[in-house]
Order: sequence, then C-alpha cells, then structure tokens
Amino acid sequence: MTIDAGPKRPDGTSIDKDAIRRKYIEERDKRLRADGNAQYIRLKGQLDHYLDDPYTPRVEREPVTDHVAVAFIGAGFAGLVTGARLVEAGVTDVRLIDKAGDVGGTWYWNRYPGAQCDTASFVYMPLLEETGHMPTEKYAHAPEILEHCQRIATQYGLYDNALFHTEVTGLEWDDDRSRWTICTSRGDEFTAQFLAMGTGPLHVPKLPGIPGIESFAGHSFHTSRWDYDHTGGDPLGAPMANLADKRVGIIGTGATAVQCVPHLARACRELYVFQRTPSSVDVRDNRPTDPEWFAEIATSGWQQRWLENFTANQTGTADVDLVMDGWTDLSRRIRARVGALAPEDMTPAKMMAAFEDSDFEKMEEIRARIDGIVADPGTAENLKAWYRQLCKRPCFHDEYLQAYNEPGIHLVDTDGKGVERITERGVVATGVEHELDCIIYASGFEVGTEYTSRAGYDPVGRDGLRLSERWADGMRTLHGIHVHGFPNLFVVQPTQGANLISNVPHNLTESGRTIATVVAEARARGADQVEVTQEAEDAWIDILLGGGGRMLGAPDCTPGYYNNEGETPGPGARFNVGYPHGATAFFRYLDDWRSSGEFAGLTFG
Ligand code: NDP
Repeated sequence: MTIDAGPKRPDGTSIDKDAIRRKYIEERDKRLRADGNAQYIRLKGQLDHYLDDPYTPRVEREPVTDHVAVAFIGAGFAGLVTGARLVEAGVTDVRLIDKAGDVGGTWYWNRYPGAQCDTASFVYMPLLEETGHMPTEKYAHAPEILEHCQRIATQYGLYDNALFHTEVTGLEWDDDRSRWTICTSRGDEFTAQFLAMGTGPLHVPKLPGIPGIESFAGHSFHTSRWDYDHTGGDPLGAPMANLADKRVGIIGTGATAVQCVPHLARACRELYVFQRTPSSVDVRDNRPTDPEWFAEIATSGWQQRWLENFTANQTGTADVDLVMDGWTDLSRRIRARVGALAPEDMTPAKMMAAFEDSDFEKMEEIRARIDGIVADPGTAENLKAWYRQLCKRPCFHDEYLQAYNEPGIHLVDTDGKGVERITERGVVATGVEHELDCIIYASGFEVGTEYTSRAGYDPVGRDGLRLSERWADGMRTLHGIHVHGFPNLFVVQPTQGANLISNVPHNLTESGRTIATVVAEARARGADQVEVTQEAEDAWIDILLGGGGRMLGAPDCTPGYYNNEGETPGPGARFNVGYPHGATAFFRYLDDWRSSGEFAGLTFG
C-alpha cells in the first residue's frame, strides 16, 4: 500500500496539481498584455491635481541656502531611523527633506480608512524600545504609525532642520569642497557634507491608462490622497457619513483595497468594486496588545531580539516563532514540507516541488475560506485567486471577504480584463456602464519605471557622472548603500542587502545604523570624504550574482509589480537581488563589518 503524501485540501482530499497548474497558466494568460508598465499613466498635466496634499496646507517660506552635516531625502521610516541613529552617534545637524507636509512617508500619504501595517507592529514599527511606545494592536492602524513617526522626529530633534512640501530637483557633488549641493522646488540651494536617499519604492501614485479618465463629472481621488472632506469620517475609522446616499466605485483589489473596502461597504449606498485580479486574503487575527504581556516581553534589547527572530523565521534558522505572523506562518509551512523530505531527496528540484506543494495547500485553504465566508456563491468564486501566493503581495484581513455580504456591495469581476473606460457618468466594465457619484482609484504606485523619472532628480557624482549613467547596466553598490563615484552618498533600501521584503523597516534600521557608524567614523578620522572603492563594489556584486538571483513573482506568475507586470525585465534586473545567504546572514555580516572598525572597502580621505 502506498501512502499519498501529496498536498491536501483543508477537507483532506487530494489536490489535482496538474489541474491547478493549468488553471494558473490560463488565468495568467488572460492578464498578460503587451504594454506592461506602460498601461499606467503618470499623474501630470490635467491629472496632477490627484497628487495634491489633502492633509496639510502648504506654507510659503524663504529659500534655504545654508550648510548641514547630513541631508536626507525622504522623511519616512528610512529618514527617521537613519536620523535617529545619526543623532545617537552625535551627529545632530541632520536635515530631512520631503514632498509631504510632515514626516511619515507612506504613513503620511496613506490615510485611507482601515490602513494598517501588515507585518506585526512589534517588528514593523521602528525604534519602539528607544521611544518606549507599546503598539496598541498586533497590527497597528495608520494614525498610530504616523503618530509614532512624529514621536521619533520629536524625540530626536529631526523637525528642527526639516524641509516639508519640498521636492529635490538637483543633487551635485562638489569635489573641491567635499560636499553635495541640493536644489529644490522651493528655490533652496544648500549644501551637505553627506547625503542619503531613502524615498521608498512606492511613493508615486499611478492611474490605469484607460480612455476617458479626465471626463468623469463626479468626484474622484487616489487612495493615497483620501478626500475625507468628500467622504466624511476620518483615518481613525469614524463612519463616512457623506457616502450614505452615494454610489461609489473603487478600481483595484490590491492590498490597499483589501483594507478600505470593508469601511466603504459599510458607508456607501452602493459600492462597486472593480476587480481585474483577486488578491489572496488570508486570516489576519488582529487583536489589542495586552499591556501585562507587553511588560513581560519588553525587557532590555527586546525589539532587536524580535526583529532577529522574525527574520530568522523567514530564513529558516529559528527554533521558536516569537512573532507568530502571517509571514512567519508562510515560511514555517514551506520549511515543514521541505523538512519532511528524506535526506536523499534533498535535491533542488525536490525541494522546489515541496515548496510548490505547500503553496498548493495554502492557496486551497485561502480559496476554501472564501466559500465559508461569502454568502453568494458566484461572488465567492470570483474572489478566488488563481496563482501562487508569492506571485502577488499576500494580503491578510478579517473583514474584507465579510464585506461582500453587505447589502450595497457589488463585485464587478472583469475576468482579468480590467475596467474599459471612464465616462462622464461612471465606469464601463464588461461592457456595462455603472453610474457613479465617486470613483476611488486603488490602482497602486509606480514600481517598474525608471528610478530617476520617479525621483525627479539624478545625482551628479564625481567627474560629472550621473547616477543613471553609472547604473545604466544595472544597480551597483556595496551592501546596497555605497556607490563608487558618489562620495559621501548613501542609499537606504533593501536591494543588494538583506532584501527582506516581508519586513522592510528591518532593512532600513540596519542601513541607518551603518550610515551613522560610517559618518561618525569619518568625523573621528577627520575625513572629508568617504567612498567605496571600485574593487570592493565589484567584489560585492560578484558575491550577489554568485547566489543565482532571486526574484519575487516568477515570470510564470500572473502579472503585477512583483514580476514587472509580466514583462521580461532588462539585463540590469539581475542585479536586483539580495545577499545569497539570506537576510539573517546579511545582518550578521553587516554587524561584524561595522563593529570591526575597519570598514573594509571604504576609503576615508
Ligand atoms: P497594487 O498595485 O497592489 O494594486 C493595484 C490594483 O489596481 C490591482 O488590483 C490591479 O489589478 C488594479 N488595476 C490596475 N489597473 C486596472 C484596471 N484597468 N482595471 C481594474 N483594475 C485595475 O496597489 P495597492 O495600493 O493595493 O498596493 C501597493 C503596495 O503597497 C502593496 O503591494 C504593498 O506592498 C503596499 N501596501 C502595504 C500595505 C501594508 O503593509 N499595510 C497596505 C497597502 C498597500 P491587477 O492585480 O490585475 O494588476
């Protein structure tokens, strides 16, 4: 008798792997399109009003022409944690610059109802131990996270020098004076000895490039500029009373829509959710933090221990799971399947097959959950995601599926085609015009476009070389931070470092620590310039490429920003990888690199 060890559905029946594989390909093929990223449109010209800041009035000010020790572009988590570490290292002359009206970055802009973090607060929210803040929920809501950003800025004095509602327009290295010149949209022209950039990958909202988008006569906005004046309510979740007599359409069903649809479904007279591809929505299980429990865990060094534990769970090197998050569950399952292989079966092919089996089981569980929650069988069927879980950003929510049982909600599934047209009256999808009073675009942010076009500037380094020229064939750095030819410049982001996508702030905190240590070292040595050598940068790239690469959302996935909208990426994309031995090993390596005091690969001059 043979025991069927293949993947099972939650009801114990066997999964027909070939049938599901075929279905995945069929659903992907419906969505592949020749225009890839070009299907989206930029918010400029007639559309640039979608970018207006609805949260903070712009205040006129005189241009700034002074000098600071460190200028940081972006006042989100990257700028805040780096600023905090610099201040701790004795470098207090730090200037944050941001196009927003305050600190917070993504948490400044994304105030849509229901916005909350999707990785446990205890590891997602930076500097909890330093600020003494206890997250009130396992997955904190946006107002608390924004307030935490403000807390960090206040505690570390980062407001003193900050420039808000200010966009950087030019950056140029002055080798004679060993400093960067920074020009901005406010006419500022100031200098900084050190410059860091941490603007995040998701700060430029985009709209679907569908005909008629300017013609809608009703009200419309993008989720990252939520218009509470129009909807009523507030980011804390007060009911959006102004929508009680309104027909509202929301375009997009990604992570943002998953969080705000339940609020809209409760508020609107009619809510039309226009869906091109369903998200996978797993259990969230959010809950308030028990202060007694928190007091017990929050002993000295607790957050670093939790960060390391979360990351170790992602990379398979932890015995315990302190965080018990959707992300750690995901990797625990994969490991359990792979770990069950007999020693002689531990081949790459069999390990990938075990990974696929665990994915089949997870996705069947997620699909079965929909049948158990959504009352209308047709709607339930249309909400099912037919792709592997990591093809798109996995979502977790306790009220999204339930919202489809509200009386006024209509799921308009477009079978992968998307909405066709916007008219003066509303949205056309599947050949039907839906008359609406308001359209909300939950259509996401630019990811696969040129970095320089998103940023609005292109740093000019030593000998007049632009960063876009330096990286014309792909990104090249040491540790994802230092770039040869660009002295005193630091990049704060995950690629070519830990590349830990499940908890981006962990990458940023470690980069911040590195930058503060390097700047403090330069000061201690009396060095005006710090730069990575060409050899060290090349050697790092060799290490990265030696790992065989890793890409979220494989080409056979349904299109999305994880796989460059299904387009084959250019050759430079092979550099968009992380440390081949994983995030835990990278953080350990970086810690040793910093604490050795040698700063191998950097020259201090
Ligand atoms: P996404 O890019 O994930 O989603 C955009 C949505 O718009 C998709 O559902 C897309 O469909 C849909 N769409 C695009 N064009 C059309 C069209 N013509 N017709 C119909 N639908 C269309 O954006 P989000 O703002 O949801 O999320 C972006 C990222 O921000 C997330 O992946 C996540 O990384 C982050 N985020 C994080 C949160 C957190 O941590 N708490 C919360 C929210 C977002 P299709 O899938 O077919 O392309």
